[in-house]
Amino acid sequence: MDNCVFCKIVRGEIPCKKVYEDELVLAFDDISPQAPVHVLLVPKHHAADILKTDVADTGACIAALPKVVAAKGLTSFRLIVNTGADAGQTVPHLHFHILGGKDMGERII
Ligand code: 5GP
Ligand code: ZN
Repeated sequence: MDNCVFCKIVRGEIPCKKVYEDELVLAFDDISPQAPVHVLLVPKHHAADILKTDVADTGACIAALPKVVAAKGLTSFRLIVNTGADAGQTVPHLHFHILGGKDMGERII
């Protein structure tokens, strides 16, 4: 997608702090971290959200998850996928938030 910020990061047109990359996915530090570790894990193929993506791309993200968290030295983390405006999704390219590096508490929101 020409105008998608995460597609631009995948293409290298916008710089990022890369955490992990393979053929199908890219993980990079969030530009505005909400925890000591805040990584975004995205499929390289564009899809607006988790309801519109190909299951192979979702699977590739989950398959990469152990490598992403290991790269950050995390054993505990929270995985969040905001979907739709009311859920706070601001970038319409599927992304998994990986948050950790502190006691995250028991409350989800
Ligand atoms: P959402 O609110 O859609 O679930 O999450 C979008 C996330 O993308 C936000 O946490 C925001 O800080 C992050 N973000 C937006 N633009 C950029 C960018 O250009 N680079 C990086 N690394 N993160 C971004
Ligand atoms: Zn995109």
